[in-house]
Amino acid sequence: MPTNPDTVPQRTEGLRWPVEPAQGGWYTDAERQAVATVMAESGDWRTGWKSAPSCAAFEEAFAAHTGAEHAVSFNSGGTAMEMVLRHVGLAPGGEVISCAINFVGPHLAVIGQGGRLVLAEPDPLTLNLDPTDAERVLSDRTRAILITHWNGAVADLRPFLDLAAARPHPVHGPPLVIVDAARACGGRTPSGARVGGSGWGWATVFSFESKKLMTTFGQGGMVTTGDPVLAERLRWLRSYGGRAHWGTNQMMSKMQAAVGLVQLARLDEMNSARIRCAHLRTRALAGVEELTLPPTLDGGQHLYYRHNLLVPERWAGGGRHELMNILADRYGVGSIISDPVTYLGHGLIREHTRGQHCPRAERLAARLLCPVLHPRISPVDETAICDAIRQATADVARSTS
Ligand SMILES: *Cc1c(COP(=O)(O)O)cnc(C)c1O
Repeated sequence: MPTNPDTVPQRTEGLRWPVEPAQGGWYTDAERQAVATVMAESGDWRTGWKSAPSCAAFEEAFAAHTGAEHAVSFNSGGTAMEMVLRHVGLAPGGEVISCAINFVGPHLAVIGQGGRLVLAEPDPLTLNLDPTDAERVLSDRTRAILITHWNGAVADLRPFLDLAAARPHPVHGPPLVIVDAARACGGRTPSGARVGGSGWGWATVFSFESKKLMTTFGQGGMVTTGDPVLAERLRWLRSYGGRAHWGTNQMMSKMQAAVGLVQLARLDEMNSARIRCAHLRTRALAGVEELTLPPTLDGGQHLYYRHNLLVPERWAGGGRHELMNILADRYGVGSIISDPVTYLGHGLIREHTRGQHCPRAERLAARLLCPVLHPRISPVDETAICDAIRQATADVARSTS
């Protein structure tokens, strides 16, 4: 998907550091060896590229890693979310509550499956869905609460599980807690369990797209669940219905699954390096009074998929854009607004949610920018990026005073 031009600096050519990195750049000899093995095996016409055994091995390892009963692989996180919602059966008009600051993917999946998207406000610190505001918009049409672990900050699901249990749908029972963990693969809940583990939400969707914390050649997805009925349905849906039901082809390839196994084994190492990098940056920027920094959380409760900065209220919108442009033009540092309020940045979502407003989300999104962060940025470059953020912030402060 092309980057929304409203979310990046005006000029992005010739940046020393790109607006957002591609994690896919971090493959080692172990991934290359896995590729070579699959190539050699699949060159045999009797076996070819048949993916089922490799996918099953990857799924088994992923389920064990997260502590889930079932893991089902897909060709992307987007198709995986779509199929989870298809199984719920939202049409006509079953409501799904989701945070207004979000990636467009989960919102489009709700609309695509005939549901009604109901937006709620983010928590001001983590930008995760605010449980109190979710309660405000919950109705007797609510079928699911969709929680995105925002930019790697693992949301506490307990208040949503309690809310769902307390407010059952009159026909379908408690709303289902569905988790978008595309940016939180390998993260841990406050109690130390892995994101996507059993008992912690009904279904959790992961993405292995190029920018994500681990990647299967730039595309791929996974669902974990404790519900055997959902797991079985997802297996039918992604491979032509298992001879009896409707289905299509959304299988992950053999090569993706083979390399996914290796990336999964390296996930904690890659995440730890990212967390270290993020904590160092937070410490380096601690004295910049204009910037609100992301919370420093340990124990895998924040993976810093992005390092969120919030500019002061008085810089919302224009001043924030000025900071992004100065960072790019004077210092070569790319940054991205990740992400805007979906109904302001996407025409179909705007049309669908007409009449819904999330003023807190709009104010926060207007203050948000995420300068490039990646565990492979060298210490020298990281120092230069932090200096640039400090200087560019001072430049904007001077020009607006
Ligand atoms: C990347 C992403 C997705 C979609 O995953 P794909 O594998 O790219 O389809 C969904 N939600 C969030 C929050 C994401 O960052």
